[in-house]
Amino acid sequence: MSRRSPSKSMRYPSSKTELRPGEIAIHEILRSPRRTVGLEVRPDARLVIRAPLRLPLSEIENIVSSKHAWIIRQQLRARTLQHKKQERNFIDGDKFLFRGDSWPLKLTDEESDGLRFEQGFFLPRHLQPEAPALFSAWYRNEAEKIIPSRVMEIAENFKFKVCRIRLSSASGRWGSCGAGGTLNLNWTLILAAPAVLDYVIAHELAHLREMNHSARFWQEVSFLCPDWQRHRKWLRQHQELLSFP
Ligand SMILES: [Zn+2]
Repeated sequence: MSRRSPSKSMRYPSSKTELRPGEIAIHEILRSPRRTVGLEVRPDARLVIRAPLRLPLSEIENIVSSKHAWIIRQQLRARTLQHKKQERNFIDGDKFLFRGDSWPLKLTDEESDGLRFEQGFFLPRHLQPEAPALFSAWYRNEAEKIIPSRVMEIAENFKFKVCRIRLSSASGRWGSCGAGGTLNLNWTLILAAPAVLDYVIAHELAHLREMNHSARFWQEVSFLCPDWQRHRKWLRQHQELLSFP
């Protein structure tokens, strides 16, 4: 009788490239003669599963989705820690994102009193110690100018009634939508490409019609933003780029 030797490690279905909305990516499943399923979020935020040899994949997926909130929390923590390691230095040549493009910082000998943007960021050398605060303030100010008017534009195009728009700074949360037509959007979205901002706006507007993440909700999102999957994926993969300072 021949016995198949179990492979120790398996990349999670290589054929599976697209996740369903809300589904969590499993990076690797390590099978061994154990009885329980163990979940581990690695420092790079990837999810690794330890599972009994013959437990069907569908059951593993069920366990993963039942631990959804816990996994998201752990991944967010891992990404935050990772981000803290790659801190910005605010020196000549450092790159800063604005509307999806990356612009260099130039320290100048000007006497001016602030941060200036002109195909790049210009900061008087003597203000360098305040650079993080000056950048945050500059971004927030741009966000105030751009985000609410873009929300109103899209809302009017698609006949949504928005009562209030607020810019928030909750890390790892791009937007939310309250009953009564209040939209909250993260100001750091101003660092991302305009199309990414549009996706988040479309997502929150769609919640005014569907207060959940059902198939009907995603249908509504597709209608407002046909390319939403690409932008959603970009946000997931580049979350740390948008955390500021
Ligand atoms: Zn949502």
